[in-house]
Amino acid sequence: MELWFTEKHTPYVQFSIKIEKQLYAGKSEFQRIDILESREFGRILTLDGYLMLTEKDEFIYHEMITHVPMSVLPHAHRVLIIGGGDGGTAREILRYKTVESIDLVDIDEMVADACRRYIPQTAASLDDPRVKCHFEDGLKYIRHYENEYDLIIVDSTDPFGPGEGLFTKEFYGNCYKALKDDGIMVNQHESPFYPADSYAMQRAHKRIFASFPISRIYQAHIPTYPSGHWLFGFASKKYHPIIDARWQEWKKLAIKTRYYNPKLHAGAFALPTYVEDIVREV
Ligand code: SAM
Repeated sequence: MELWFTEKHTPYVQFSIKIEKQLYAGKSEFQRIDILESREFGRILTLDGYLMLTEKDEFIYHEMITHVPMSVLPHAHRVLIIGGGDGGTAREILRYKTVESIDLVDIDEMVADACRRYIPQTAASLDDPRVKCHFEDGLKYIRHYENEYDLIIVDSTDPFGPGEGLFTKEFYGNCYKALKDDGIMVNQHESPFYPADSYAMQRAHKRIFASFPISRIYQAHIPTYPSGHWLFGFASKKYHPIIDARWQEWKKLAIKTRYYNPKLHAGAFALPTYVEDIVREV
């Protein structure tokens, strides 16, 4: 019998990948965790039946959530990742020698353990001495910091279940407080295409826009995410994501990327008209 992973993107649209075998199935206090093996996309992590990453296209998401802010702050020292228990974002940040420490705060230790075992492509980073893992709720963790981090990356699940709190005004306000005076926050910002996702994205943007003086949206093509069209939020206390990007310095670091490059960075902030319209309504 053929095995397929299917995710409902709307009540009328679903996306399926043929699965060779199930490698792991677990249930934590917070969510169901599955790791599947597929021919086309390699290993796949799903949480509560929603696709989080595949080995084949995770580089797009992790490069875009990391190198866009890091090319504006190429000398960042202290980085906080909220969520990101698969380790992909930490892997990309570790490529910067100037980063002294990464605090990674994921609510669910079982995600990190399952990924360490089955998806070392991303999770090997979690055992680097510069990475300190804290297994707790990011909403609570961030309340205790002031003027601490150069960069906060919110690599969360969607705005329901355990990830809900990471899309609230309280959370964004506390991220602002936890950042240094020239700090940047980047978050995964949902998709603009289907109405329910687009509503969540607009609401998140509205809250970030109210919390930071500079707030912009950028995009990437991620084949296995709903509609394939994915957005990220760039919020900053001081720096503009294009005018203040330090691409010459970034190029000197000689970080080899497969998706990110400075031209694409600038272009990623040029949004389709229908997305601009959603953002303008905020
Ligand atoms: N790249 C994925 C995406 O956008 O589909 C997200 C990556 S996944 C590893 C997100 C992580 O956020 C999960 O490991 C989950 O446990 C974690 N998470 C969810 N809610 C959280 C919370 N309140 N605090 C910290 N981590 C949370």
